[in-house]
Amino acid sequence: MSRIAEPVSVEFTDNPVDAAMARVLDDVRRGDHPGTVADYIPQLATADPEAFGIAAVSVHGHSYGAGDYRTPFTIQSMSKPFVYALALQELGVDAVCERIGVEPSGEAFNGISFDPSGRPENPLINAGAIVATSLIGGVDGAERFAAIRAGLSRFAGRDLELDEAVYASEAATGHRNLALAALARSTEALRIPVDEALDPYFRQCALLVDAHDVAVMGVTLAAGGINPITGERVISAEVARHVLSVMTGCGMYDRSGAWMVSVGIPAKSGVGGGIVAATPGEYGIGVFSPPLDEAGNSSRGVAVLQRMSSEFGLHLLNRPINPVSSVASAETDPSTGRTVLRLRGEVDFVAVEEVVHEALRRGRACSGSTVVLDLTDVTRISTVAAYLLTQLASDVGYGVRVVMQDPSSLCAAPS
Ligand code: GLU
Repeated sequence: MSRIAEPVSVEFTDNPVDAAMARVLDDVRRGDHPGTVADYIPQLATADPEAFGIAAVSVHGHSYGAGDYRTPFTIQSMSKPFVYALALQELGVDAVCERIGVEPSGEAFNGISFDPSGRPENPLINAGAIVATSLIGGVDGAERFAAIRAGLSRFAGRDLELDEAVYASEAATGHRNLALAALARSTEALRIPVDEALDPYFRQCALLVDAHDVAVMGVTLAAGGINPITGERVISAEVARHVLSVMTGCGMYDRSGAWMVSVGIPAKSGVGGGIVAATPGEYGIGVFSPPLDEAGNSSRGVAVLQRMSSEFGLHLLNRPINPVSSVASAETDPSTGRTVLRLRGEVDFVAVEEVVHEALRRGRACSGSTVVLDLTDVTRISTVAAYLLTQLASDVGYGVRVVMQDPSSLCAAPS
């Protein structure tokens, strides 16, 4: 099992990005966002209700923060997507999905939420999370937890420590989780002794993180499974997308629907007051503020992410209405009818549609002429775009002669 060899030093510099986050944080701090610090795990009740911090890490590996983003707190339910990711990586999607569903439950984190086949509805509520923990390899609970701690540390880019007091407090009072684990055992979703899943589950929830760690963990999902600070691939791109998909539908307890409408970022909250959010291909964001709303989500955390989503344009469905054109220039020589379309940048499905349309329109306007697609300045091309351009150039049935100039990007591992 791999551990992080050396801690990676992270530099925070004053920057307009920090300033923009600090402004949002201050506005939210001044607003009215009532909440109550969780006390069903007695040790959590000692959290400072005024602590409030936010951190963001970009896929380029740059870190930003405002407020108490270096204050440690327990990860709690934010551990769930990452342990689920480790299980998917270890066992494969089919084996994991046989035991845990991917449907929103519409119930609280500790709901008795099983589908008719006996699978917990999803891995982000306790029943499903306990089963996910049980899927991590290990001869006993201690070894299982060691693997989980090592795996979550790789997501965070540093070795995470256990808060013994929070662990002991939850282990002494977690009767409902004991009942959920026993139920999962009765349906055979859980196939090891209850204790061997429950003890590492309580421990994983008591791992200490700060908002910056959480942002690093989030950006590792956003960056397709590679931690951009350590450069390590922690999980595959397929697993990262799978986990983000489940977070999109199930991450914010029984407010996941309202969350997607108002914030629109895959996320997971925890009763310690944390929220991890990940905007695919862009940022990981970590928030910490202990008072929770009636659904169990950090009140200020929800408010600050709502503000960031709308002001920084982070909603997942906030895609450009008029995407940047891939056609840098289009010139037709009137004497020969020969057209040169010079393409640039990233060519995806919507971009290639414009290219194909333009090539056919210009080529058909002058029969017998040639359309040259100059790909010299193309930086990336999607699989479908490469396929469609190749079809266009090779199929005479379109009635236009198309040739490619510098087609090397077509075979450069398109995605
Ligand atoms: N350790 C907590 C529990 O299982 C996690 C709950 C949460 O953060 O939602 O009760």
